[in-house]
Amino acid sequence: MNDLARTLESIPAGDLLARADRADERAVRAVLAKEGRDLKDLAVLLSPAADRLFEEIAAASARLTAQRFGRTVLLYAPVYLSNECVNVCTYCGFRRDIDVRRATLGLAEIEEEIRYLAGQGFRHLLLVTGEHPKNVDLAYLEAAVRLARSLVPSVAIEVEPLDVEGYRRLIEAGIDGVTLYQETYDRDLYVRYHTHGPKKRFDWRLEAPSRAAEAGIRRVGIGALLGLADWRKETIRLAAHARWLLKYHWRTHVSISFPRIREAASHFAPPHPVSDRELARMVAALRLILRDAGLVLSTREGPGMRDGLARIGITQMSAGSRTEPGGYGRPDDAQKQFMVEDTRSPAEVAARLAALGFDPVWKDWEEALHG
Ligand code: SF4
Repeated sequence: MNDLARTLESIPAGDLLARADRADERAVRAVLAKEGRDLKDLAVLLSPAADRLFEEIAAASARLTAQRFGRTVLLYAPVYLSNECVNVCTYCGFRRDIDVRRATLGLAEIEEEIRYLAGQGFRHLLLVTGEHPKNVDLAYLEAAVRLARSLVPSVAIEVEPLDVEGYRRLIEAGIDGVTLYQETYDRDLYVRYHTHGPKKRFDWRLEAPSRAAEAGIRRVGIGALLGLADWRKETIRLAAHARWLLKYHWRTHVSISFPRIREAASHFAPPHPVSDRELARMVAALRLILRDAGLVLSTREGPGMRDGLARIGITQMSAGSRTEPGGYGRPDDAQKQFMVEDTRSPAEVAARLAALGFDPVWKDWEEALHG
């Protein structure tokens, strides 16, 4: 077990929540009035008393987001390069033991996808793959990143965990971000959900955002797959992970994603479903603990939910997403990872954000901050 894992294991999330469950509304308001907040405060914001004060908490989260980020929402699109995978993650439509249409895009197909997205206005793309050491190796990723960077100014990856040298090579090729969800921070549940393949290594995955930061990446995105474990405990451990990264890798920007499990070819029924209200509470509570974290929402959520969460604290959103390789140019040629709920076009999403008083941005506004 590494230092980060030991630190996360030592956080008594259950006890913090049990104690916070005795909090009253006065205690919640006291947390709202504070400047700096810790994990105990986060537990109070997740308590039943806080549920009764949700409107006040959401308003505080919205105010803080406006202070730190203005009214901007960065739009991005995922580009699925491959759905080949050697892992069995029980919840995923790409798991190796499901017989689905597989594809790994060649460079010409990747170019087609990226040109399509650039034509829609996107300047920030997230390249996504499963884990397949033979067909999706580092050289493949480097070539894909170089190509993508020749067409758009900002490219991030969501791929298997790499070592520091691997991240260095991809930074050299042009990535500025690494997204990697731990899926669940509950070690025992993690073992149950990840039954075969290299992804079984909990600690290797947990340390990956730190390795990317050590390699010099500008931003890392972390998250838990919502539905796998108790959402309140996951929120506390996720916040602890983010705080660790901010403490030891302060030059790296940290963002948090909120992927809720959606229908997939795995037909997985989430044992800990997260309701709309719980998701909104999670977004607001994390904003109040992590004031400068980017909060990211995908098209796993429907239009109404996305509009609502943008008002509370979301600062980045995907739009017009396809979740299968080649999905923009040749929809339905390969298996999707999951069904999207928001099927609006990027232009429709941007127009709606503008109507809500936000400034949808396509280019990476952080560039101006980081130089
Ligand atoms: S979640 Fe990722 S690693 Fe797991 S089966 Fe799906 S694509 Fe493979």
